[in-house]
Amino acid sequence: MQIVKKVSEMQSISDSLRKEGKKISCVPTMGFFHDGHVSLMMKALELGDILVTYLFVNPTQFAPNEDFSKYPRDLKQDTKIAEKAGVHYLFCPDVEDMYPGGFNTSIHLDGITDKFEGKFRPTHYIGVSTVVAKLFNAIKPHVAVFGQKDFQQTLVIKQMAKELLFDIKIFVAPTLREPDGLAMSSRNIYLNPEERKSALILYTALHDATQAIMNGERRRKIINGVMHNTLRKLSSIKIDYASAADSDDLDEPDEFKPGQKVVLLMAVYLGRTRLIDNFLVTIPGK
Ligand code: AMP
Repeated sequence: MQIVKKVSEMQSISDSLRKEGKKISCVPTMGFFHDGHVSLMMKALELGDILVTYLFVNPTQFAPNEDFSKYPRDLKQDTKIAEKAGVHYLFCPDVEDMYPGGFNTSIHLDGITDKFEGKFRPTHYIGVSTVVAKLFNAIKPHVAVFGQKDFQQTLVIKQMAKELLFDIKIFVAPTLREPDGLAMSSRNIYLNPEERKSALILYTALHDATQAIMNGERRRKIINGVMHNTLRKLSSIKIDYASAADSDDLDEPDEFKPGQKVVLLMAVYLGRTRLIDNFLVTIPGK
């Protein structure tokens, strides 16, 4: 595995690979790898000849009050994990190299970024879509793999790639979970033992809402209520949102239709740690 630090070096490696007819896949990450990241790398290895894993804790997608400076980092361990996974290039540029002129050019998507994560983190998706566009221009991949774990992000990236005419296929891979159901996340390391146990409540709430849907419930507010009721059993929890929406465009009708694909989305605080999770469910019937 080769470690690449400079954007210009990455670009010339990708140019050569493309000339040789290689299909380049990439996995964008903020590092502190867990098995969820590795599962994305495995998928990307299947989808291309050469895998570039991007490791960059992107400052512009964190608001000033968020956890940029304390976000977990361990380049040594990440290098070992990436090498073992079969990554060909680990691309980990410096902030100065990714933002040589500062942050004067940015990408904003209307509509899809207004709700859920975008509502609670108003500048987040500007940072995400801009850095992803930049890494696409640095890595020049044919295919990029993102996790369903950040569901709204996958919609944002797909829409950006389509509307800005990026000739890149976006693949969404499923969420890997701990044995008890908690979605793997680099941020889980923030949880103390008691919070770690309580964190299962997200999975339980998503299950309860899925069960309600399977039992015939189609009213969005009732489905949202099921998630809120389960989450509120934990008195210390702070809910940013727990909502059902159409999984194509995040539309929120009063009632879902049979056959409609729905995403159950949530973001909550356990202590000072913010966790997100989601399930995809198809409304039965039809
Ligand atoms: P992050 O490093 O947290 O920004 O995540 C990098 C990529 O890994 C994103 O596309 C995430 O959606 C994905 N990811 C994060 N957690 C998981 C997980 N538990 N299972 C699968 N993919 C994940």
